[in-house]
Amino acid sequence: MTTHLVWFRNDLRITDNRALHAACEDPQARVIALFIATPEQWKQHEMAPRQAAFIYQHLQSLQHSLAERGIPLHYHQCDDFAASVNWMKGFCETETVDAIFYNKQYEINERLRDDALEKAVGADVLCHAFDDSLLLPPGSVTTGNNEMYKVYTPFRRAFLSRLTESDSRSLPAPKAREHGQKTVMHKLMPFDYPLENIDENFAVGEDAARNQLRSFCREQVQDYLQQRDLPAVDGTSSLSPYLAIGVLSPRQCFNRLRTECPDVLDRTDGGAFGWLNELIWREFYRHLIVAWPKLCKHQPFVGWTDGVHWRHAPEELQAWKEGKTGYPIVDAAMRQLNATGWMHNRLRMIVASFLVKDLLINWREGERYFMSQLLDGDLAANNGGWQWGASTGTDAAPYFRIFNPTTQGERFDKAGRFIKAWIPELSDVPEKDIHTPHRWAEKQHRVLDYPLPIIDHARARKDTLAAFEAAKNRS
Ligand code: FAD
Repeated sequence: MTTHLVWFRNDLRITDNRALHAACEDPQARVIALFIATPEQWKQHEMAPRQAAFIYQHLQSLQHSLAERGIPLHYHQCDDFAASVNWMKGFCETETVDAIFYNKQYEINERLRDDALEKAVGADVLCHAFDDSLLLPPGSVTTGNNEMYKVYTPFRRAFLSRLTESDSRSLPAPKAREHGQKTVMHKLMPFDYPLENIDENFAVGEDAARNQLRSFCREQVQDYLQQRDLPAVDGTSSLSPYLAIGVLSPRQCFNRLRTECPDVLDRTDGGAFGWLNELIWREFYRHLIVAWPKLCKHQPFVGWTDGVHWRHAPEELQAWKEGKTGYPIVDAAMRQLNATGWMHNRLRMIVASFLVKDLLINWREGERYFMSQLLDGDLAANNGGWQWGASTGTDAAPYFRIFNPTTQGERFDKAGRFIKAWIPELSDVPEKDIHTPHRWAEKQHRVLDYPLPIIDHARARKDTLAAFEAAKNRS
């Protein structure tokens, strides 16, 4: 009997999973599944313990769904990618595997690992790799010169003209195997990695993710453009943790959006198109890391920005991490991140700008800290977001665009509802003073149990402009 091995990585779902679907196409084949945890590697990249816990919980759910279909999930733990390739070679021999099916990961180390695996197993085991985690695979949306776009808007235009019905067709979950094994479900050993509780807003399982997608597209997406920048409002989908580990596919998102909003592509000023636009940013950043693998190594897209003289300011970095900078919108955002592992997109932009352009601290510090906390940590999106904010990336904010953290707060959290939810020390401060609480406290002769601003924005702005200009002139 032929044996097909499905290697799950960041595609922890049974619905619309191209590798799983293909492995199950031959009804006679014996299908087995595998997940390999690499805690040493995770430690090196400082993956958030809560994301590891989220993966673990989804593995349990996946194991259950696969077992119902007669597919056993094997689980193994290796230190790193090299060890996992060696181990898999032996596993394929023991299980007499004829073919491995997996969905591609686009980060450089993962691509090298997959190449190494193909070599290691040799011609005896066929490797079938699928483009699954994007609507369109990297390299398929290019300029007339066959190059990757460096600017988002023309990328999106080309992307939409290239996207066909068949690219976005979702696949059903496989049926129970006729010759499925009576699957004994061994308890999955917890990862050798610190695990943390997950915020209750992020329920476990494909069904939960799909329900959230459906209700967002049905009830909220129309108002997306009006609400997406307001952190006090639940105006975005909060689906990023599911997309990051592949509990949900972008095809499922796109198809659900089209079902609920059939005119999404015709009404480019509508909320549905606005949301699709964000899904396309996700695609853009993944296409970029394939075209420029140096991004995976945390190198800037714009070389001269590496010459900026960043400040070594460990105490200020720590204050930023802990949400104690004295700038209420920045602190509330960082506290939301630390407590839940999720942060609103507008706030991610504000805190990134604050770290880089107010404190003049290297953006890589922020990128790393985000990964250590985020439930939706994703190398391409995180690197893209940080390089955008730091003006080191392609199509990034120009270096002289520097958010004023006070006016950003006034604009996007006018009444301070979000701030008050995360900074109880400011609960007595009136709405109109919430963004400059110490001025109010001074007038009231009160002492706030809240730090004074750790830096003067106007001065910091000048210093940052000078530092970027000096680096540019030196290049
Ligand atoms: P929605 O507004 O509902 O958007 C739908 C989906 O589109 C998201 O779930 C996400 O998958 C994708 N998306 C939305 N905005 C972006 C964007 N700007 N770039 C890429 N994809 C996007 N997103 C991550 O998934 N993981 C990260 O590690 C990450 N780090 C970021 C770091 C910085 C500094 C910045 C500025 C942005 C980062 N983002 C990251 C992008 C964005 O902030 C989140 O995807 C978004 O806030 C998730 O909330 P949501 O699911 O409600 O998004």
